[in-house]
Amino acid sequence: NSFTEIDLGKAVNDNIKRCKYVKPMPIQRHAIPIAMAGRDLMACAQTGSGKTAAFCFPIISGVMRGQSAQPAWSRGPRVASPVALILSPTRELSCQIHEEAKKFAYQTGVKVVVVYGGAPISLQFSNLEKGVDILVATPGRLVDMIERSRVSLRMIKYLALDEADRMLDMGFEPQIRRIVEQMEMPPPGARQTMLFSATFPTEIQRLASDFLSDYIFLAV
Ligand code: AMP
Repeated sequence: NSFTEIDLGKAVNDNIKRCKYVKPMPIQRHAIPIAMAGRDLMACAQTGSGKTAAFCFPIISGVMRGQSAQPAWSRGPRVASPVALILSPTRELSCQIHEEAKKFAYQTGVKVVVVYGGAPISLQFSNLEKGVDILVATPGRLVDMIERSRVSLRMIKYLALDEADRMLDMGFEPQIRRIVEQMEMPPPGARQTMLFSATFPTEIQRLASDFLSDYIFLAV
């Protein structure tokens, strides 16, 4: 019933205190231990449920633990190679996730960058060149960057799909599939995937069975 019961690491726990989060919200109480155990997850979550922290805390904590594990060859001079990807449908939501994730990653050394469509791509490229561990992105802009060989997804270990139903409603399914195809075929369980959605039509269930392995379904 408290964040300190979950071993997120001291830096993340300090940031949780700094954000004045005292008690985990239900989605956090259930999703964080599952994610920390390395399991894939499909969760029913509405806006305002606290889902951003539910996927950010385990990702930041995991990236911190694996920080030195990233081989140098994976980073070409101008090719960004994040280890975590958070996909969201809109610029507004992506920026919101980016702002929260930066607070949660404060003083951890974990770098969070956001890219989205409808804004100059050059500024986003220069942000990426400063280094990125966790990339927050809208699907269209990310595909554009992959096609220009400026982002590589070969090193992705953590994938979160936020508001998956809205992404499909907006017609992003082909882009999402292109993106996930870019991730190197992992040995089973090497990539951890978390899918958040408010509704569960057939299309979402199909995405889950295509992208998640042996996942836990969570409805709170
Ligand atoms: P979200 O659903 O992720 O957009 O979160 C909704 C709002 O709740 C955001 O303003 C968060 O900063 C806030 N929030 C998330 N988790 C907690 C918590 N455990 N305690 C207090 N506020 C929280």
